[in-house]
Amino acid sequence: MNNTLLAYAFNADKNLVHIDTVKNGLECNCTCPGCNESLIAKNDGKIREHHFAHLSGNDCGTGYETIRHIWGKEILLENRLLPVAIDGKKGYLKTDRIGLEVTLTDLNIIPDVFGRVVLPFNYLGLQLPRDIPFIVEIYVSHKVDDEKATIIKRNGIPAVEIDLSKSTATTKEDLIKDILNQENWNVINDKIGGRFLPRINLPYVPDRKTYGTNSGQTIRRTPYKKYYRKRR
Ligand SMILES: [Zn+2]
Repeated sequence: MNNTLLAYAFNADKNLVHIDTVKNGLECNCTCPGCNESLIAKNDGKIREHHFAHLSGNDCGTGYETIRHIWGKEILLENRLLPVAIDGKKGYLKTDRIGLEVTLTDLNIIPDVFGRVVLPFNYLGLQLPRDIPFIVEIYVSHKVDDEKATIIKRNGIPAVEIDLSKSTATTKEDLIKDILNQENWNVINDKIGGRFLPRINLPYVPDRKTYGTNSGQTIRRTPYKKYYRKRR
């Protein structure tokens, strides 16, 4: 339970919308992402911060938990390249909207984010990429349970749980900082022929399409390609 004013809500299509993009009052046609109650948009005031209020007058206090879970998945899917290390070697975690579902449906688990760790290896003097399936779980209010963790370990899929349960982020930009905080990474399974670690204490440049505007930084969209092709 917290007293942070809700600035985002679900519209009729269950998409997250900001308070300043909807009609005032009940006409906003919005619901709370946490408890599904109808919300009243309070966005014509000049003094109080614009926010959504629960119709009953009782804030469930869980709206931002659901929002952080949605943002967490979006951030991983939109940025697509998170640095990790396996046995000290540099690799990248690439997220994917498609590709691994079939395999994982057989296992009866639905991960939050599917990904691949891309790790270079040497073959005849060439650095070639090796893709290893990877699971990312976003922990906001539901920790990965023992059953799921057992399935993941038994099948040898590397997996990490990013703990956002203590996050107080109310914007996507703030949530990125929590996602990139190595202390929030709990490795569920790293048995992939080598130990992997988040390598996320590196300077990190978010995808320009999503977050960057005029940061003045160089955007390296696919730094790994160059790395792989380098001859010994
Ligand atoms: Zn609610």
